[in-house]
Amino acid sequence: MGNIETLIEDLQMAFSDIEKPKKIKGCDCGSCLDQNQCDDLLVLSDRIELTLDDDNKASLLCDYIFDAVWTVGVTKDFIYFVPKVLGLCLRQYDFLESPNIFVNKLAMAGFNEWSASKKMSVEAALLKVVELGIQSSSDEFDNWMSGVCALDVSHQKFMDLLDGDGTEVSRRNFIQYHYPESWEGPRMTGPYWDDLPSDKTQIVHNWLVSQPPI
Ligand SMILES: [Zn+2]
Repeated sequence: MGNIETLIEDLQMAFSDIEKPKKIKGCDCGSCLDQNQCDDLLVLSDRIELTLDDDNKASLLCDYIFDAVWTVGVTKDFIYFVPKVLGLCLRQYDFLESPNIFVNKLAMAGFNEWSASKKMSVEAALLKVVELGIQSSSDEFDNWMSGVCALDVSHQKFMDLLDGDGTEVSRRNFIQYHYPESWEGPRMTGPYWDDLPSDKTQIVHNWLVSQPPI
């Protein structure tokens, strides 16, 4: 797996054909990004460098990711921000509050039909971000994985991340989440898991069944 700088360069290269949106349509419901905030986001987007030194920029981008495609802007706008968001996640593995929402939107934005270079650069970045989280004992593995299962990527590679050194906390959290009450069988339900067909979750299910009780 490449280092962080190489992963970011690969993302930028793979998405270099995606033009900056001329306008992102805001939502006037009062809770989503409104038109002014969308205009600000676009102005800032040139300066959303791959640094985390400006909280305002980062939080506007996080708010956008939450609303994107559902109520704010269109799919093409979201795709423009994909390499920027993943670059920030590579710098700070917990940059996104709800990684499953971001990853789920990758699927909504047609990830499975994207070019090989886009898919490969995104998969490599996701693997690295999830690995960094596991090594920091993050409890977000389930959150990432419920999104990742909707993507045509190697689900096995993601599960293999839990078998390395220093993964005990994340491994336990993930197992406990899927065995809430009994050891009769893993429960593959919860946010985003419910929407996935069982063939998409098979590798995760098999992994859970193979684990000794904790
Ligand atoms: Zn709204």
